[in-house]
Parts: sequence; structure tokens; C-alpha cells
Amino acid sequence: MKNLITIIFLTFSILLIAQTDPKIYDIIEAVSEERLRNDVKTLADFGTRHTLSDTLSDTRGIGAARRWIKSQFDNISKDCNDCLEVFFQKDLVAKGTNQRIVKDVMVVNVVAIQRGTKYPNRYIIMSGDIDSRVSDPTDFTSDSPGANDNATGMAGAIEAARVLSKYKFESSIVYLGLSGEEQGLFGGQGMARYAQENNWDIIGVLNNDMIGNIEGVDGVIDNRTFRIFSEPITTAETAPERLARQARGRRFYGGEVDGISRQLARYVHKTTETYMPEMNPMMVYRLDRFGRGGHHRPFNDVGFAGIRIMEAHENYTQQHQDIRTENGIDYGDTFEHVNFPYCKKLTAVNAITMASLASAPPAPSEVGIGGIVEPSAKLKWNKVDGATGYKIYWRDTTSPTWDHSRYVGDVTEFTLEGIVIDNFLFGVAAVGKDGHESVVVFPNKIIR
Ligand SMILES: [Zn+2]
Repeated sequence: MKNLITIIFLTFSILLIAQTDPKIYDIIEAVSEERLRNDVKTLADFGTRHTLSDTLSDTRGIGAARRWIKSQFDNISKDCNDCLEVFFQKDLVAKGTNQRIVKDVMVVNVVAIQRGTKYPNRYIIMSGDIDSRVSDPTDFTSDSPGANDNATGMAGAIEAARVLSKYKFESSIVYLGLSGEEQGLFGGQGMARYAQENNWDIIGVLNNDMIGNIEGVDGVIDNRTFRIFSEPITTAETAPERLARQARGRRFYGGEVDGISRQLARYVHKTTETYMPEMNPMMVYRLDRFGRGGHHRPFNDVGFAGIRIMEAHENYTQQHQDIRTENGIDYGDTFEHVNFPYCKKLTAVNAITMASLASAPPAPSEVGIGGIVEPSAKLKWNKVDGATGYKIYWRDTTSPTWDHSRYVGDVTEFTLEGIVIDNFLFGVAAVGKDGHESVVVFPNKIIR
């Protein structure tokens, strides 16, 4: 009996292994702690990268910083036969737009696009921030190294580009440096608008903001846990009649915690658990930290999926602080506080999520569900070009993760015999070659 169990277990393990893509392990290995360290150092050494700081110097201020970031993407592109399209995206933000814009400023983002071979207009995006700040958000001259906040996210995006540019993907990957974060999320707003104007089909935005601190202000040290923040549902349901209809739909059919950003968060969670089991991904079911914001929000505001990836333990003496020593405490966001083995892990989480999504077919756009007063749940979806099959996921209504799944092959409808619709939540993902899956789509219509 014991042997039989062992055999079943081994067979099951092999089946599980067969669903993973060896390339993803290579990508994790290729992320370099050393290069992240060098890049965070270089960014911190620009003195300040405040959005309103000097743009003419070649050694100090945000102008020098963004030109250096662009030069890194240009160099990466040279090494891959010009595989990156690198450019500045900019918008003028007028003095007085809010209290933190004390003079007219050109908010400049750096964009690098690795064009997809099959779906050039579908984009998975990794963002970090260029800008930094000290105690006074309008102080654009004092030293503001912003090593953790957010040179780590920026360096992570550059390093992901170095690693992933060695591969070809079906969908496009965007490595993004955003500015104006600390002044009011202006860079993200500009970039979200740019994406809308150019009709980008965005799979999701992985916004990285502070991915290098492992020692919390309370002394807790943890180099395994990280947070994935996601809003529950999209807030882009503007028309009042639409709002009412959607609220009514959620009341009867569910979906309160199943918006597109939440599905993206679950995808990061699942990909991490599959390929980096040493890590402890922690989904937080809210837009961002309590009452606070980040650069995924402007994308959410216009209806794109977007999440924040971040350390689990923050240290507020090293965040938005003038560099000083007070009562024996060293304040300031300086280079020596950043933990690079951890920063490497979180960069790898981004890289493997993007590699998986950019290798997967698009998600089905229409998913119908039925089975009211029946013993089995029925699902039906549209055929996706490029999908080799589909996977139905379900979970207890109280569970945060898609705990059960069944691969159903290349069909567009399926009945889960004996699974009662009332007791679970359901979704469907498209599956492509090497087992790469789209994000899960929560049903958007009822079939009878
Ligand atoms: Zn900040």
C-alpha cells in the first residue's frame, strides 16, 4: 500500500514537473545581484533624482539619471540586434497643478519595448521609478539618494531587460522608468494616456516600488516574503447605469474580489510558488498600502490591470527622509541599507511572470457560466487563436487562490460533473505551448 502511494505520488510529481518550462529556471539564474548593486549605486550617486531637480548636469539630477537609464537600454538593445525600441515619453506638468509642483516641469519617462513576435500590440509591463525625494516633497536640491525608493525598482526593470532580451516572446514586454511619482503619480498618468492613445492591449502592469529592504522599522528581518497589492475590481466603471448593472451582477453572481488586477496578482503568486518555492508571496487585497499610492494606480484608473510588487517590511526611517542622524538613528534612503540578494529575488519574480505571460496565448475574452439548479457547473468561452487548450479553475468562495484546476483540452465548453456552481468561484485560462497560461478570466456572462 505504501509503495503504491509512493508510485502514485511520483507519477503525480512527474506530471507536475512536465508542466513547467525549463527556460524559466534559466531566467531566475540569469538575474545578477552584482549588476543590480552597481545600478542602484549609480542611480543613488546622481545625488538627487527629484522630479524638479537639475536636468542639464551630466552627473547630478534627474536629467542625468534618465539619460543614463536610456543609455543602459540602448546598450542592452545593441547586444540583441536592436531588439528594444527605446524612447522618452514626456508631458509638461504646469506649476501649481498640485502643491508639489512648484514650477513647470517636463515629466519624462524612459520606455524600452521588446516587441512580441506574434502579438506585437499586447504588452506586459514592468515599471520602476526614476525620481526620489526627501522629507520636504518640494525640496529638489538636497541629497536624495532614493536607493530603495525607488532605485531598486528601476534597476530591477533594467536587469529584467538584460535577462529577457536574450529570448524571443510572442507578446511584447515593456521595461519602464517612470518619473513624477513622488509629486503625484504624473509619469504613470502620462504613460497610461500614451498607452490608451496608441491602443495598447495591456495584459498587466507590474509596478515595482521598493524591492530591496528586508529589515522592518520594528526590527523584523525577512528575506523571503514580499507583497503583491491589487485592487479588488476595476474602478473604471464610470457610467452610472453601468455601475448599477455591475453592482447588481456582483450581488447575485459574485466577482467582488475577482477584478482583472486581482487575477494578475494571483498569476504572480502562482508563478512564484511554481518556480521559486523558497519565496513567500503575500497577496494583499487592497490597491496599495493603507491610504497610500503607487504608479500602478494611474493604469488602474483607466481600466488596465496593474499591481504593486513590494518588500514585506518597510523601514520608515529610510523612506522620504533627509539624510541626518537624530537620537542615534541614521535617517535616509541610502545605498548600504539595500539587500541585493532579496532585490535579485524580486526582480526574478517579475522576469518569470513576464516571460510566462509573454509566452502564453491571450486570455479568452468571453467566459460564460451556467448550472443554476443543476448538479454540475458548465463553462463556455470563445476560442483563442494560439491556444492549444484551456484550463478551468475553481476555488472555495472564501479562498484567495485558484486552488483547483482541470485541463480540459482544446474545447470551448465543458461541464464539471458533480461540482455545484453555488459552492465555488470559477474561471478559465488559455494554455499555450510549454504549458504557459494566460491570466484566469472570471465569467462575464451567464448561460442558461
Ligand atoms: Zn516614495
